[in-house]
Amino acid sequence: MVQESTYKNIAIVGCGAAGGFLSVLLCKNPYNKVTAFDINEPFTTLLPTGGGRCNLSYDEDDLNEFVKNYPRGEKFLMSVFSKIGQKKTRDIFKDLGIKTYVQKDKRVFPVSDSSAKIISDLKKHLYTDNFKHIKEKVISVSDNLNEFVIQTEKNSYNFDYVVIATGGKGNGFWLAKNLGHKIIDPKPSLTALDIEEKDFYKLSGMSFKKVDASFKIGKKKYNCCGDILFTHKSISGPCIFKISSLTAFEEISLNNPLEIELRLSDLKYEEIENIIKENSKKTVKNVFSSFVPENFIAVILEKNKIDSNKQAAQLKKTEKEILIHSITSLKLHVIGRIKDSEIVIAGGVDLDEVDSKTMESKIVNRLYFIGEVLNIDGFTGGFNLQNCWSTAYICSMNFN
Ligand SMILES: Cc1cc2nc3c(=O)[nH]c(=O)nc-3n(C[C@H](O)[C@H](O)[C@H](O)COP(=O)(O)OP(=O)(O)OC[C@H]3O[C@@H](n4cnc5c(N)ncnc54)[C@H](O)[C@@H]3O)c2cc1C
Repeated sequence: MVQESTYKNIAIVGCGAAGGFLSVLLCKNPYNKVTAFDINEPFTTLLPTGGGRCNLSYDEDDLNEFVKNYPRGEKFLMSVFSKIGQKKTRDIFKDLGIKTYVQKDKRVFPVSDSSAKIISDLKKHLYTDNFKHIKEKVISVSDNLNEFVIQTEKNSYNFDYVVIATGGKGNGFWLAKNLGHKIIDPKPSLTALDIEEKDFYKLSGMSFKKVDASFKIGKKKYNCCGDILFTHKSISGPCIFKISSLTAFEEISLNNPLEIELRLSDLKYEEIENIIKENSKKTVKNVFSSFVPENFIAVILEKNKIDSNKQAAQLKKTEKEILIHSITSLKLHVIGRIKDSEIVIAGGVDLDEVDSKTMESKIVNRLYFIGEVLNIDGFTGGFNLQNCWSTAYICSMNFN
């Protein structure tokens, strides 16, 4: 039996990926009395992750390479991941009875390939005597010198320690701001993008693998690679998500479009030129559809008013250039982000005001921040959940 006076009375606001994982880690210590506030069931936010399979991390041992996947938080996470990186996280999951595996593309999934199963597995470790879930929305947290007062829509509660783990969509930014923290203006990230060239929406469902993309912000040039997908009203896929992430804080509109250049095939300009030469008697449509989808080349031909049935030998120099460039360096103009398509929120609690060794606020003692509420966000591939597991673990070290 633990004496009431020796308890650490800890509130966790938000019981999603980060708050739920922290709850699991803290409950192991009977000297912690853990109360998680969330109107949802613990870990509910994990359900849609990885398309229902929960892509929980990424298998990369080189820390310098790993942190490059975070447009916000790279330096901060270097310190965090040096204590708990993906390998150690997977060991912790294994100890919790959740085995993981690495897919060909290095993304890490639970062996069950099921978000629902990982949620039920994690929950098994949660409902200990020293854990309580209060299904109420927190509307304010105030620091009364020796204790915190948490006000929900129904009640008020006192705690010695408070951890804010409200993610990017809750009101955690507002709670943090009221406690004196600076908030980097939240912006949607990992979104599908809208383009000026609407003709391409006819290609809905068509995807290209390992596309190289480049674009400029001011004078700085960015390159990224990944699959892209055309939908009926956007361009999407991992490569496009990266672009949306790298430009999350840029003003993009019809009046201020972002030009992106896509290399849709491994074939070089000269190689395509040779294919045309070697097949000069065939129709343009037949030549090109031997190495890119027929519908794609049909859109390019129609857009540029080139007769699809003319022989390749009859192509004018400029027509040939247009066709080859549409494959080696297709220029598209991004005019906006698709509303509500974001997977994460960029921005949040300013990292300068949080200690990366403890996750404690540098402004308010015994107040902590973990997960996406921080100004940390990564590309797709398991990086956002890894941020949650690692920052939760670092925070747990203060209490275990
Ligand atoms: C469709 C989709 C798929 C994704 N897939 C992946 C993936 O495969 N891999 C990956 O790494 N990342 C993925 N992500 C991103 C990842 O899910 C998030 O980065 C992660 O869940 C953030 O965890 P968190 O604990 O910080 O916040 P959340 O998981 O969002 O949890 C926050 C919790 O706080 C609660 N809350 C908020 N405000 C309050 C309040 N005032 N009072 C009480 N409770 C409150 C919310 O109800 C919520 O349960 C995906 C995101 C989406 C939307």
